[in-house]
Amino acid sequence: APIILWFRRDLRLSDHPALTEAVASGRPVIPVFLHDEVVETHGAAPKWRLGLSVAAHAKALEDKGARLILRRGRALDCLQALVKETGADAVWWTRAYDPDSIQRDTDVKSALKEAGIDARSFAGHVLFEPWTVETRTGGFYKVYTPFWKALRDRDPADPLPAPGRIPAPENWPASDRLDDWAMGAAMRRGAEVVADHVTVGEEAARGRLGAFIANRIDGYADSRDFPARDGTSHLSENLTYGEISPVALWHAGQRAMAEGKRGAETFLKEVVWRDFAYHLVYHTPRITTRNWREEWEAFPWNTEETEAVTRWKQGRTGEPFVDAALREMYVTGTMHNRARMIVASYLTKHLLTHWRIGQKWFEACLTDWDPASNAMGWQWAAGSGPDATPYFRVFNPATQLEKFDPNGHYRRRWIAEGAANPSDTALSYFDAVPRSWGLSPDAAYPAPVVDLQAGRQRALDAYQNRDF
Ligand code: FAD
Repeated sequence: APIILWFRRDLRLSDHPALTEAVASGRPVIPVFLHDEVVETHGAAPKWRLGLSVAAHAKALEDKGARLILRRGRALDCLQALVKETGADAVWWTRAYDPDSIQRDTDVKSALKEAGIDARSFAGHVLFEPWTVETRTGGFYKVYTPFWKALRDRDPADPLPAPGRIPAPENWPASDRLDDWAMGAAMRRGAEVVADHVTVGEEAARGRLGAFIANRIDGYADSRDFPARDGTSHLSENLTYGEISPVALWHAGQRAMAEGKRGAETFLKEVVWRDFAYHLVYHTPRITTRNWREEWEAFPWNTEETEAVTRWKQGRTGEPFVDAALREMYVTGTMHNRARMIVASYLTKHLLTHWRIGQKWFEACLTDWDPASNAMGWQWAAGSGPDATPYFRVFNPATQLEKFDPNGHYRRRWIAEGAANPSDTALSYFDAVPRSWGLSPDAAYPAPVVDLQAGRQRALDAYQNRDF
């Protein structure tokens, strides 16, 4: 009987333990992707980008003699229907660790098992599964550095090669058409602009890793904090859909380190931050929706869509680092890590606004949106998370810009107002945003929505007066 291979955030053929084992069994394999209850909740940009990934994966599977069967609906309903139609007696998938996926998968597993189906999950989305990393006393890690120390000398297994041909069933079940799902529907005008900034699919992801290792990993430690430099790997976009495995990054980084590439260890540490985010989200799932430190629920965050919040989202706060960063995200679907830290600090501290508002905006706009890294990043910046930057440490976006954009390249790349010859990228922002925002590159650059000193003081006062 065939095996149904349910693809989710693992849209690749190589280093895919479930696929390798399915092919090794010699049984027919039916690859499936579901527009299910979890996909349904995705923000505009990640959903659109996921659609591109699904298309690339379908093509890659066809080259191996297989197909990707698409169905829409509740995961369990779709899988039960497929089991019935195909006579499959096994449904296999790669494990996920965020609360929404875990709930879906737990329900699917128990219902299928009850029906006598071999419902089985495999590793593949992280370097080390969250329950395999324990502190000396048997707990989980809440602080990154000891987590890194616990991992750095452990070696994940070598990446698995992609299978040759994938054995096909005698008859393929019916499939939806991807276009009918309209996964880019919520992107409006933006999709055409953002499309110039994505790198889609497994092959492209491997090329990206290869180019990074060959050209940029050596200088990574020196360049990674400068948003105008092309200093980082950009692989978060591919990792989040599983177009490449973290294990592939780990081994490439280890090889580079053995060859004496200077930035390699720093790169490995960053890859482990991603694992740390999944470690935290697995052990404390509330991190995705509630303050990790429970007492912060009482903090007087603004939770309204104020004028200041709107201007933050639109990149019109009058603070160039913040605005450049938010425009970068709207146009490219990604934002430099230093810039993410700055805009998150500015929203939660200078604007005293709940990190959930920023987290949700990122979830709408980021093509590399990841449920674990996004939640951890926001709570780190807000001071409400484990191993977070303390609330009283407030980034000054103006001095940060002087330090990390000393020649003004990042600012000029994204801010058109007031420039004699605005750059094409800065102008592309005005093509990407909805017309209803009423923005024009010819307008004057906005005055600051809050004075930096006053905003800082207001944040510190709120912190000092908190009753926890
Ligand atoms: P590189 O510098 O090349 O690093 C290599 C890989 O390491 C990355 O691809 C990523 O998988 C991992 N990594 C690096 N930094 C971090 C980090 N701080 N936390 C977790 N993993 C990391 N990352 C996402 O993938 N999705 C998100 O939705 C997301 N939201 C964030 C929100 C905030 C407020 C902050 C402060 C950070 C967020 N990050 C998120 C983490 C980080 O900014 C991005 O992973 C990084 O900018 C991706 O660029 P890169 O692939 O070029 O990274």
